[in-house]
Amino acid sequence: MSRVDRMKNTVNKKRRTYIKRKVCRFCVDKTLEIDYKSPRILRHFITERGKIIPRRISGNCAKHQREITTAIKRARNIAILSFTTVMK
Ligand SMILES: [Zn+2]
Repeated sequence: MSRVDRMKNTVNKKRRTYIKRKVCRFCVDKTLEIDYKSPRILRHFITERGKIIPRRISGNCAKHQREITTAIKRARNIAILSFTTVMK
């Protein structure tokens, strides 16, 4: 356990830590569209190595996470996004 983790634990005992509830950004902003042709949006949902970020981390709802996944996969196929990043 790291030093930071231990510090968090002591805080937990005193009072409930406030965890910022992540809300799905596509549900909040209706104008935001999931489009496989716009890597600008999709890039938020992939790691540096090109992996899709899981829902529990990105905070998306199931419906939009599904759409994101499809969009990323499509974008990969038409070479907008990369499958992986070559690590040297
Ligand atoms: Zn949503």
